[in-house]
Amino acid sequence: MLKDLFIGLSQNQLLNKAAQKYGLKLGAQTVVAGTNIEETIKSIRELNAHGIACTIDNLGEFVYKKEEATEAKEKIIEVIEAIHDNHVDAHISLKPTQLGLDIDYDFCFNNLEEIVERANRYDIFINIDMEDHNHLQPSFDILDDLSKRYDNVGTVIQAYFFNSEENIKKYKDFRLRIVKGAYKEPAEVAYQTKKDIDANFIKLIEWHLLNGKFASIATHDHHIINHVKRFVKESNIPNDKFEFQMLYGFRKDLQLQLASEGYNFCTYVPFGKDWYGYFMRRLAERPQNLNLVVKQAFNK
Ligand code: FAD
Repeated sequence: MLKDLFIGLSQNQLLNKAAQKYGLKLGAQTVVAGTNIEETIKSIRELNAHGIACTIDNLGEFVYKKEEATEAKEKIIEVIEAIHDNHVDAHISLKPTQLGLDIDYDFCFNNLEEIVERANRYDIFINIDMEDHNHLQPSFDILDDLSKRYDNVGTVIQAYFFNSEENIKKYKDFRLRIVKGAYKEPAEVAYQTKKDIDANFIKLIEWHLLNGKFASIATHDHHIINHVKRFVKESNIPNDKFEFQMLYGFRKDLQLQLASEGYNFCTYVPFGKDWYGYFMRRLAERPQNLNLVVKQAFNK
């Protein structure tokens, strides 16, 4: 019920516009690193000091105007230059709908290519985040086209999709982030229960650890993390074949603990004015995240 409410709110364009106007509110500052690049680089330096790498997301999605997509592309290129200039350990995560996928495939592809080309000059990796099932195939198409010319791109496999096993096998030679999946998807295309999603998540992680290039295991679920720790030990999988990823502001103690135990760790660092949809999805995933919001409200 609450999940549906927050997913619905995350897609409300009017509320999204209002949120952009008023800056980080409602407790979003706990899970969003800042509204500009300078603040974000500062947060990244702090994480890097603890041996934690970062993937930076210039917040924004479901863009329907070319000017907005072009603006997003330029901002991401600025972030790439900032990573290079500041020598921080970070790469980029981006969403195709922010770069115009709902406007025109070629327009979006060209935006992405410009970004990937710039990042390639500095050997910076670009992760194509995966969105809802309507955008799944076109996002894989973009990856297929880009990877003909560039090797600094990878993507995400969402375990709730029935076709995730097929896709993880097809893209095994890419650096892949494996997640449970964040959107509300219909029963025709995706598993619906936590039990089924978790079982498939573990199956995909194990397969990719044994057969794939590099796995970013992105979850806050300690049951899954403990399972992976046991599995890599039993299967003699070296630490340089995988990393754990979590979102900025979530389970900070566990993030630091995993890094100090010698695992590669990468924090997903969102920043920017367009925080509303991202923030609502985090509330949808785990209504207890409202606790963070309440604490923030009393912590002024
Ligand atoms: P959940 O299933 O939400 O939680 C399982 C259990 O873990 C909970 O019952 C609880 O015991 C524990 N737990 C979880 N969170 C906490 C907490 N904050 N504090 C204490 N205990 C907790 N989704 C996409 O669809 N596309 C993407 O591109 C994408 N990229 C992502 C990148 C990163 C780095 C991460 C971390 C997630 C990403 N996601 C993405 C979201 C992902 O699909 C899930 O929706 C999200 O991570 C919630 O699932 P979970 O695996 O963290 O655990």
